[in-house]
Amino acid sequence: MRTLDNYVLGGWHAGDAPHRTLTHAVTGEPIAQCSTGGLDFARILEYGRTEGGPALRAMTFAERAALLKTIGKTLGEHLPSFYEIAATYGATKVDGWIDIEGGIGNLFAYASLAKKLPAATFRTDDGPTRLSKEGTFGGRHVIVPLEGVAVQINAYNFPSWGMLEKLSQSLLAGMPALVKPATNTCWLAHRMVEVLHDANVLPAGALQLVCGSAGDMLDHMTCQDVLSFTGSADTANTIKTHAGLVENAVRINAEADSINSALLAPDVEPGTPTFDLFVKEVAKEMTVKAGQKCTAIRRVLVPAGREEAIVDALKGRLAKVAVGDPAVDGVRMGPLVDLDARDQARANVAKLAAEATIVHGDPNRSDFEGGSADTGAFLEPILLHCTDPDAATAVHSIEAFGPVSTVMGYRDLDHACALVRRGGGSLVTSIYTEDDATANTLTFALAPWHGRLMVMSEAAAGESTGHGSAMPQLVHGGPGRAGGGEELGGLRGLAHYTICTALQGAPDRLEGIVAPATGSA
Ligand code: NAP
Repeated sequence: MRTLDNYVLGGWHAGDAPHRTLTHAVTGEPIAQCSTGGLDFARILEYGRTEGGPALRAMTFAERAALLKTIGKTLGEHLPSFYEIAATYGATKVDGWIDIEGGIGNLFAYASLAKKLPAATFRTDDGPTRLSKEGTFGGRHVIVPLEGVAVQINAYNFPSWGMLEKLSQSLLAGMPALVKPATNTCWLAHRMVEVLHDANVLPAGALQLVCGSAGDMLDHMTCQDVLSFTGSADTANTIKTHAGLVENAVRINAEADSINSALLAPDVEPGTPTFDLFVKEVAKEMTVKAGQKCTAIRRVLVPAGREEAIVDALKGRLAKVAVGDPAVDGVRMGPLVDLDARDQARANVAKLAAEATIVHGDPNRSDFEGGSADTGAFLEPILLHCTDPDAATAVHSIEAFGPVSTVMGYRDLDHACALVRRGGGSLVTSIYTEDDATANTLTFALAPWHGRLMVMSEAAAGESTGHGSAMPQLVHGGPGRAGGGEELGGLRGLAHYTICTALQGAPDRLEGIVAPATGSA
């Protein structure tokens, strides 16, 4: 079995026993092991601060953008090995593409966005602003990278995308990173860092990687470091209340889980193209990556009386999805990442089933195309119908992290919005309507509760990037349950890794301080 070492302090370092084991999603066999035991996290963070930080801060935005492009191109030359690894955690070709090439796409997107940045190592706002009667005293903001390390903790479902979207922003901002992928899928992140190390494309200390538990990493973070976390709401809450992080006021950005919705508006009748688009998207969201997406549609809200039409249409689509080993021809949905994740999803389906009826799928099905649920982490798509969403609590709060969604009816738009809000803040809701007034009402009622709203109609469907896809140009995140964080959003994403400092003084002097456009920050 291969051992995945840690890339820290400028080289590869083995962790001490005991190791954690990664298993194959289809066969359940052990495939790799890793450990962070014995690592000196205080030293690792200090290495990033003293080696990677100064090197990145000395680079202009254009130079950092060129670095992102080089990383993207280098990774792009090794795609087959990445897809091979993705297959071990159950990814179909499409699932792998979303994670791997979608992740690489973020690097190029941010390199391109950098064209809007000044020919400098830092940014300023427009200014100076006059702060005195005679105009001899003014102010402006200077925006510089923090001097610490961006600690990036990622979730298991996006080992590539999660790492690369965060790196795109932190490297462009001028901060070095320490990446901690989720242990059960860390092999892909490990392979990518191996490729970058072999190609020698990164300044020393700009990127470090640990495979295994976080150990005492968080204890050594300072106010100049940033913690970017993606994962479950439970872990997010543990991290947000970590004593050291609280005491040192470490900046934290959390992307957590989310009970996302798709809402069919009253104007959309069965048999119309928009109705069909809605059904297609819900079925797609349930099955792509076997429903292991933070953005996946968990609640399907439809006008009361139309539940049966939706349930029938979804059952028709889901019945056609061949589930099994992605290596078998015709299989469209693979297993979950491992048996623990599958068992957790099954347990959460049982909680949902206490207040909703399973109308499609058997959580205990054992035989699949080319595999068995005894050894592989298979779970077929499970659709539930909740007839009393007002009385229900689990359907609005429990994330069954797999191919699982619940249909529920609403009386009117106010009721629909009240149900959506019971998710406690979400990453995304899709609204399907052909009526402008309805789109307007729902947008303003739901925007405060979401990081993203997809207002879907026939006109947008042809080129839509889909409910589940977070785009680098637009905000990804969400309030409340979704973590309260914000990533991507174009150049807004750089804000996590920089500090905006107000400069006050004589206006000419303020101009002079930032005048040499390539001056160092
Ligand atoms: P998880 O169990 O919360 O773990 C997430 C990450 O946190 C992993 O790297 C994990 O490491 C690490 N971790 C766990 N406990 C920690 C601690 N005490 N200190 C520091 N790090 C700690 O989540 P997951 O099972 O990997 O991912 C699935 C969840 O992530 C789902 O709920 C999904 O909705 C959510 N997610 C959200 C987004 C988003 O953008 N909002 C994106 C993707 C996924 P180990 O693996 O070593 O335990």
